[in-house]
Amino acid sequence: MVEKTVEVVRGDTPGTEWRLPVLRFRATGGGAPSAYLQAALHANELPGVVALHRLVPMLAEAERDGRLLGDVTVVPHANPIAAGEHLFSEHMGRFSFHSRTNYNRDFPLLDTTDTSGLPGDDAPVAAEKRLKARLLKLALGADLVLDLHCDDESLNYIYVPAPFWPHMRDLAASLGSEAVLAWRDSSDGAFEEAAYAPYRALPDDDPDWRRLAVTTVELRGRADVSPELAEADALGLYRFLVARGTIRDEGVEPPAEWPGEATPLDNVEMIRAPVGGAILFHARPGDRVEEGQLVATVIASPGEAEGEVAVTAPQAGLILTRRSQRSTRVGEDLMKLLGSRPSATVKKPGALES
Ligand SMILES: [Zn+2]
Repeated sequence: MVEKTVEVVRGDTPGTEWRLPVLRFRATGGGAPSAYLQAALHANELPGVVALHRLVPMLAEAERDGRLLGDVTVVPHANPIAAGEHLFSEHMGRFSFHSRTNYNRDFPLLDTTDTSGLPGDDAPVAAEKRLKARLLKLALGADLVLDLHCDDESLNYIYVPAPFWPHMRDLAASLGSEAVLAWRDSSDGAFEEAAYAPYRALPDDDPDWRRLAVTTVELRGRADVSPELAEADALGLYRFLVARGTIRDEGVEPPAEWPGEATPLDNVEMIRAPVGGAILFHARPGDRVEEGQLVATVIASPGEAEGEVAVTAPQAGLILTRRSQRSTRVGEDLMKLLGSRPSATVKKPGALES
């Protein structure tokens, strides 16, 4: 029986509060890795929400049949505050209207999985900080922590803290990830970093890295919400939980070897708009491009002979993501390209873009 609880987050003003449903599935045996899965920390990123919706009945069935060997906690929509943040009919979802902080930054980084020092709901701090503390309390202690996000228009990819690689190849294979981005330094307190922080001091060869998995999963682009993808992503998550022993299911084959290599974050080229205007893209996520190849044109002065500016690939590589809007201001991100050497222009090595 799925156990549902509703966490209440007190509002910052009289008469308001937010409610956060949490679903728990209890293992019959002990010892298998436990898992925590959440989606929509950025509230307008829904591929993970619909994947978890499809996964939950599979977890319930495993629990009912006595095949659930590790506890699983699911938070299908992790951010009720941002779920309501709309501006002129558009869902924002990424930054707090209260503090302008990215909802996937500024999580507390703890040295252990003891969360007793984190603020409770009666603490005199803003709701978003209490929500972050609440999510961390729910997640820390789980062996497998998956934070489901998506990009703008994008391939399916994951971030991993460097010591987890190559042990987390099984996740990349289970999900059919098309790229893996490995990072080592700081991400300004992304949820992933906070879930990984208690283990930071472990040496790279510690056997615990093989048991644990912590990641941000980027389930393609914001518009990639469909019955087929929800089903495929739920199956991918299920396959991973079987591979790690959290669920027993003899009908599920172990994931094949993931064929690629992890790309260091330093090799990610953020291709930015040299001018503001309308964007014509000449390449899409999944395309491999050569150094100097035309990937976009920005039309700054429509109708004028000199009115357009060419944007070229700074090095050869794979187009990972691109902007979904077709207008840009100067300096905004147009595309992410995965190169084979460190970017000469990367703004800040180590920062996740999740
Ligand atoms: Zn996100």
